[in-house]
Amino acid sequence: MALAFDEYGRPFIILKEQEQKSRLRGLDAQKANISAGKAVARILRTSLGPKGMDKMLQSPDGDVTITNDGATILEQMDVDNQIAKLMVELSRSQDYEIGDGTTGVVVMAGALLEQAEKLLERGIHPIRVAEGYEMASRIAVDHLEHISQKFDFSLTNMESLVQTCMTTLSSKIVNRCKRVLAEIAVKAVLAVADLERKDVNLDLIKVEVEKFQTLRQQEQKYFDDMVQKCKDVGATLVICQWGFDDEANHLLMHRNLPAVRWVGGVELELIAIATGGRIVPRFQELTPEKLGKAGLVREKSFGTTKDRMLYIEQCANSRAVTIFIRGGNKMMIEETKRSIHDALCVARNLIRNNSIVYGGGSAEISCSIAVEAAADRYPGVEQYAIRSFADALDSIPMALAENSGLQPIDTLTVVKAQQIKENNPHCGIDCNDVGTNDMREQNVFETLIGKQQQILLATQVVKMILKIDDVISPSEY
Ligand code: ADP
Repeated sequence: MALAFDEYGRPFIILKEQEQKSRLRGLDAQKANISAGKAVARILRTSLGPKGMDKMLQSPDGDVTITNDGATILEQMDVDNQIAKLMVELSRSQDYEIGDGTTGVVVMAGALLEQAEKLLERGIHPIRVAEGYEMASRIAVDHLEHISQKFDFSLTNMESLVQTCMTTLSSKIVNRCKRVLAEIAVKAVLAVADLERKDVNLDLIKVEVEKFQTLRQQEQKYFDDMVQKCKDVGATLVICQWGFDDEANHLLMHRNLPAVRWVGGVELELIAIATGGRIVPRFQELTPEKLGKAGLVREKSFGTTKDRMLYIEQCANSRAVTIFIRGGNKMMIEETKRSIHDALCVARNLIRNNSIVYGGGSAEISCSIAVEAAADRYPGVEQYAIRSFADALDSIPMALAENSGLQPIDTLTVVKAQQIKENNPHCGIDCNDVGTNDMREQNVFETLIGKQQQILLATQVVKMILKIDDVISPSEY
């Protein structure tokens, strides 16, 4: 950038064309990328686990979010660096596929990057590191399967599902009401679950904080036949998405046909699914078969405010659920919504696949031991990378210990020794100072697919970062 003056002495700025691009190659490129990835992971590390810290994020328009959900933190951080963006993507993929474990996956990737940096410094080629990591991740994923357990639940015995959801919720801000929230999540998921097909459509669950628009009505002569048509097909309640004016409202009321005039598109679809009705774009298309059925529709007010909700009950098909959250302030409600989302995902994952592994870092420690032992079987340079992978796995229990105010290295050593001595893969970090390391006794578990996905996704992204050896970017002025 240069300052120049025109013939009248007025200043102007000359911007150079961006022909100059900054370029990093080889090891420098890898190191710069690794440190960007590590920086993101470092931010999330303190949020991991039941004693993890929360982050307060302010958006440019002043909205404040307080959360410890990894995906949300990264989503709102507005990072510029391309590698940091990859880490954000990573967390998002875990959120999209599993819904939980979004912090852990980034911490794991950060640890893998940190170990890779050491290996690169020792002169090991990045491709060999990437290959070693790939082998190690497969060993770890297989090992997880090996130490996993099936666990049973049924519509009558929901306790185990509730317990798993409680593990997820225990690290959230809302952990004081984890039991209540876990029960709500499990009931909601079971209500929409197809246990035979082992499938759950989470779209059928809506977490509502706002209020349904209220029942009111009126309108003029033009609406007369519209109302008549509704009456003719036998409708006893009209629900409309785009609203109608006061005159129509009046008319409907006059004819004893109650109506809801503003219902969001999503809600309308849920109501249609629940009642077995069809959404008709024009009232002329209304026929008796397209009507939905519900036993009772009532309005209920809450608390001291004038908030009112419309309840549509005893539906023909009750497989649509709305969870209604009230709270002291918007931030709390938003965080509760995010936490319930995680719990819903955990319950859904369990219905899809009821294998679990124990949490509190126990599964990672067990995998670390298995990967370390397997390293000896590989004669090539990859064995260094495999060992480093084992060390990276240890970083999860270490972060959990550190965040709970424990000595990370000491605690890890003790727990690892205990796992080996007792041949018990359930020993983890006693974050809440319960008095036992056995996560099975503490009822701290996570889904097998969630944990496997964490390892696979973290490995994938790290491999991708390691393979970049040329970074060309527009130079900054
Ligand atoms: P994520 O977003 O990755 O799920 P969390 O902050 O929810 O991150 O922390 C999850 C980690 O905390 C998991 O490793 C889980 O096993 C562990 N954890 C949760 N509850 C407990 C507990 N009561 N004791 C020990 N570890 C726990």
